[in-house]
Amino acid sequence: MNHPARDHGTAPAGTANETDSGAVVWLTGLSGSGKSTIGQALRDRLIALGCRVEYLDGDALRDAFPNTGFSRAERDAHVARVGFLASRLEFHRVFVVCALISPYADSRNDVRARCRRFIEVHVSTSLEECERRDVKGLYARARRGELTQFTGIDDPYEPPAAPEIAVDTATVPVEAAVDRIVHCLGFGTAG
Ligand code: ADP
Repeated sequence: MNHPARDHGTAPAGTANETDSGAVVWLTGLSGSGKSTIGQALRDRLIALGCRVEYLDGDALRDAFPNTGFSRAERDAHVARVGFLASRLEFHRVFVVCALISPYADSRNDVRARCRRFIEVHVSTSLEECERRDVKGLYARARRGELTQFTGIDDPYEPPAAPEIAVDTATVPVEAAVDRIVHCLGFGTAG
């Protein structure tokens, strides 16, 4: 049977340069670590540099794929779905910025294997700092037992063993994090 997901089509013609080479930038870290904040700033920077960019936010995509829960199997399936979309966009030379907790190393590595250029950014802000910020009030709810399977509280987070970049937002400002990522992608110099 011809499986449409395996028909990868033809790559766009033309000579790749920095702005049309595409890549997947995968931001992983705890809730409230700064993935979305950095991801959106990176999207804006890449657009300003003339790139085609898509930003895939894990929380927003949960709305598009309803009934995705927080068991390991469901988290892995969520990461795999977003990773597949990202890899297809990258194939068409889009810069894809993904912000997902993506707590399991195996599922992140599976996405890496699908992509041509995969930049793993560990947003390594400590649990203590994320909980202090508690941007969405979720840590307080998890501590009260109103939320279960909450990463860092009663669910695991496996830090990347060898990320291309690690950023602790307690000490690295947003624009400096973006500088480091665009430098890693081959644009200009880091600040
Ligand atoms: P996540 O997407 O990882 O859940 P968010 O980006 O939604 O995290 O929230 C991170 C919070 O931390 C935001 O309120 C943001 O303003 C704040 N913050 C403070 N300093 C930084 C920094 N240097 N980089 C990113 N976020 C920061």
